[in-house]
Amino acid sequence: MTAPFEIRGFNMCESLLRHTPEQLARFLDRMGELKFNTLIVQYDYGFRHYQQLIKEKCQQHNIDVTLMVFGPRTFFKLSGCDSKHFALDDDGKPYTPAPECETWPCFSSHEALEHFTAGAEIFLREQTPGWIKRIHMRSGDGTMTCRCAKCRNLMPSVGWHPFIKAFAAKLHELRSDLEAESDIYIGRYDLSVPAQEYESIDCVMYDTFGHHPRIALGDNPNHKSNWIPVNGRDTDEFNCNSLYHFDRLSKWAKRLPGKIYIHDNTMMQALIGMFHHNTPSMLKDLELYRRLGLRGVLFEAYEPGYHNFARHFEVLSKAMLDPEYGRNYRPDGVEKMFANLDLDYSHIDKRTSEELINILPPQEQEFIRICDAGMTAPTPDSYRKFIDYIIDHADTVDVCYMGMLAAKHGIRVSGTLDFSQAAPESRKMLSYRKLWDYMEELPDHSRAREDVIEILKDLRNNVRSTV
Ligand SMILES: [Zn+2]
Repeated sequence: MTAPFEIRGFNMCESLLRHTPEQLARFLDRMGELKFNTLIVQYDYGFRHYQQLIKEKCQQHNIDVTLMVFGPRTFFKLSGCDSKHFALDDDGKPYTPAPECETWPCFSSHEALEHFTAGAEIFLREQTPGWIKRIHMRSGDGTMTCRCAKCRNLMPSVGWHPFIKAFAAKLHELRSDLEAESDIYIGRYDLSVPAQEYESIDCVMYDTFGHHPRIALGDNPNHKSNWIPVNGRDTDEFNCNSLYHFDRLSKWAKRLPGKIYIHDNTMMQALIGMFHHNTPSMLKDLELYRRLGLRGVLFEAYEPGYHNFARHFEVLSKAMLDPEYGRNYRPDGVEKMFANLDLDYSHIDKRTSEELINILPPQEQEFIRICDAGMTAPTPDSYRKFIDYIIDHADTVDVCYMGMLAAKHGIRVSGTLDFSQAAPESRKMLSYRKLWDYMEELPDHSRAREDVIEILKDLRNNVRSTV
């Protein structure tokens, strides 16, 4: 209960290509200052371009590197798997015609498992450097699991597990120097897979995806807890993410003692990195993880946008080493205000309440106001102002992700923006489900970030109103 957590660090979820080399170097150097010891980087998104820099910095700061690979995306690509073996929709068509971040296999297809295993072998033999400690084989992202007649009624946890085992078997056969890691993630928190089925998995990430940043796990049954449904087909007697995660995590910790650590979506890229002044609730979560005997925590983080979270991570990193430090922490006035869940904050709550805006420092106020206006029912004018702002602050905000996400919200959520006059390349980028899949396919990775910023300028110059 008093020892430091064994696993402490960051998960650079998702693309490294959102960084300049200087930003990435700054981020990795800071990990040394925080005494963090573990980093996850994504093989699929930017690793080829940045692996030398990551190797040098992580060796300098004694940081273990976990290479995360989206199994279906990479292994199906490497083995040339036909999309007829991918997850099918209700009309019998593959959800994704080519492998991407959200591609899943058809769980009932032998050919899918064979291609998956063959691709894993190529990946382990040819694509995995010797300085990596562990491979995290990530499932497909999202919830587009197979709807064919055989898979339709299968729990995704059960359908997916043979793929986890096939990967772990290949890893132990070919690379005995590496550890195998898998995830418990959206739609697969249920307990349908027996614990002994995890014998060959060395390390398991429980991803507390979808828990509201200002509600500690097990706390405050509140409708805001449910802003993203995470239970999938699992029976949920709580109807509250905070209580659901508390229950499932407690059970998984007992089932797989010594294997589980936490991934927390701290900077929440989908919420464009707005800081919720939630250090007290995160410290409470750390206490829970200690009680459950978990190995530690990796926080989702990256350099663009980090400055809003700098103090937060300083506190959390100290509390991970010394629990007394966390127990002695006293919330300040801003944190007390933010703990009031009746006060809305950022576009996850639709729009920020004036009470909260008024207690923030002036620079943060400006940022929140421009983001709210650019993300929530934007007009062409508020979108243009938003793009100008993020380009002007490109060293400190996540310019690529925010620009793309705001355009997509304007098209698909509010329906107020039209980009049909934008250049073909800009419209191509907007047609991708994930920005990272688009960036990864650009021929020159060293220019990917600049290319996306040029596209954002084109979108800004050609945005029209639909109303
Ligand atoms: Zn199927």
